[in-house]
Amino acid sequence: MNRTRLALVALLLSTSAPAWADTLIDNVRGTTIGANGQPESFTGLLFDNAGTIVRVIHAGDKKPKPKKEYQYHVDGKGRVMLPGMIDAHAHVMGLGFAALSLDLSETTSLAQALEKIRTFVAEHPDRPWIVGRGWNQELWQLGRFPTAAELDAVTGNRPVWLERVDGHAGWANTAALKAAGVTAASKDPAGGKLERNADGGPQGVFVDTAMELVNARLPAPRAEDRDVAFATAQQILFKRGVTAVADMGTSIEDWQAYRRAGDANRLYVRVMAYAAGVEQMSLIGGPGPSPWLYADRLRLNGVKLYLDGALGSRGAWLKAPYADVPATSGLPQLSETQLGNLMSRAAMDNFQIAVHAIGDKGNAAAIGAIDDLSATYKGDRRWRIEHAQIVDPRDFARFGQNCVIASVQPVHQTSDRTMAEARLGPDRLAGAYPWKSLQAAGAKLAFGSDAPVEQADPWAGFAAAISRQGPDGQPTGGWQPQERVDRATALAAYTSGAAFAGFAEKRFGRLAPGLRADFIVVDTDPMSASPEQIRATKVIETWIGGGLVWSAEQPVK
Ligand SMILES: [Zn+2]
Repeated sequence: MNRTRLALVALLLSTSAPAWADTLIDNVRGTTIGANGQPESFTGLLFDNAGTIVRVIHAGDKKPKPKKEYQYHVDGKGRVMLPGMIDAHAHVMGLGFAALSLDLSETTSLAQALEKIRTFVAEHPDRPWIVGRGWNQELWQLGRFPTAAELDAVTGNRPVWLERVDGHAGWANTAALKAAGVTAASKDPAGGKLERNADGGPQGVFVDTAMELVNARLPAPRAEDRDVAFATAQQILFKRGVTAVADMGTSIEDWQAYRRAGDANRLYVRVMAYAAGVEQMSLIGGPGPSPWLYADRLRLNGVKLYLDGALGSRGAWLKAPYADVPATSGLPQLSETQLGNLMSRAAMDNFQIAVHAIGDKGNAAAIGAIDDLSATYKGDRRWRIEHAQIVDPRDFARFGQNCVIASVQPVHQTSDRTMAEARLGPDRLAGAYPWKSLQAAGAKLAFGSDAPVEQADPWAGFAAAISRQGPDGQPTGGWQPQERVDRATALAAYTSGAAFAGFAEKRFGRLAPGLRADFIVVDTDPMSASPEQIRATKVIETWIGGGLVWSAEQPVK
């Protein structure tokens, strides 16, 4: 980027600049989802100083006139341009904090993890607690959970608390067990479990709601820590070409961090917020969803409710027992009555509702509640089911009713497939990660990452969605390949579909006149490249509202 363009960016990002500064970017190989829901090719984009698209230029169109129709010209150099990717399910502050804390997600054995923990503890002598995440005993091929004693050997007397990769279990050392006051006499809370030694004492791992015993003892991050985490999260998203995100579980403190960023002109990414439960919803939104704030960069849309847990920690609520532990069918976190009551509480004030449901029983219960409530709460509700991972094929059709949004994360399928096979056995796999079936039934698809559970990487998700193969190309032909989706569906689910899922389709998500100029320039065309190439996509530039927020070639001030 040259000096003129740096100046241009500064101009575009400031709100007081004069209105004549229209910009033309041309000579691009562009694809967006069109008004008809199908991919549309274009060669250039004209947008005004407010960052709103004025014209989309197609091959053969008359060229806009310099000085008359635009002031600034950017040569796209024949590169690929797409609408900004929208991550329909992520934990924005979690993503930022995860990047600043101990990351065990790349470790392939317990020994390797312990070494990494030992180093991190030594490098951060000032932190009263050592917090981290990302471990996965399945990946370590441990065949059991790790223990407090194993942690003690490398951590000493400072409390250590490490969340499992799915966020549904935590691993504590003895100092953390003490801080939490957990002993052999401690009971399992409803919806949770303490892993125990043979003598009944806590072994170190806490599942689902039991994690709260330790979480409640963690020192709360300060406002300035949150600001750093949010700034970090924005950079991670821009580097991957993500320009908008649904934040699934916003707390009042998170919301205040977004507001501080907005007030200080440091809010660039578009955040569609879903409050962490109805109490936070009322605290943030009061009588209803917030307006769109900061030129469509922030809105409280609704509420996220947790109905069950995750498959890896056997928290997902199944209709029949787990294949590998027949004593359990999962840990519902709400009864069906409680779910209905909470949904009703939110719906009466017009908040949008997003229900976390992973198991087939959880999904059936969520769909059942939506059926019930739709009779009372009419209009354009856009009920969302988050994850919709394991669905009984007999329930597919019910997703099509009431315009339910299936907010799914393609990478979960490729990361979890062998675990899912173990948990479910062979007979339930037909309903596992059933994207194509849900779409065929009439559900609206929105794709996301669930970051920081997975990388905030839409390209890995895009590749998984069209191939059902992991980064290793396995399994040959794809896993349950009948559930692959086509490229147009994948692009829509990461752009227009994800915007629709957040009531934002009239503001962003496509490149069309009147919408925000949120777009990316990338080195790979996902509409024609192989899944392998798509996975390796490099984002060259990320633009939001007509302003450059990230460049691979030069740092953006
Ligand atoms: Zn999530």
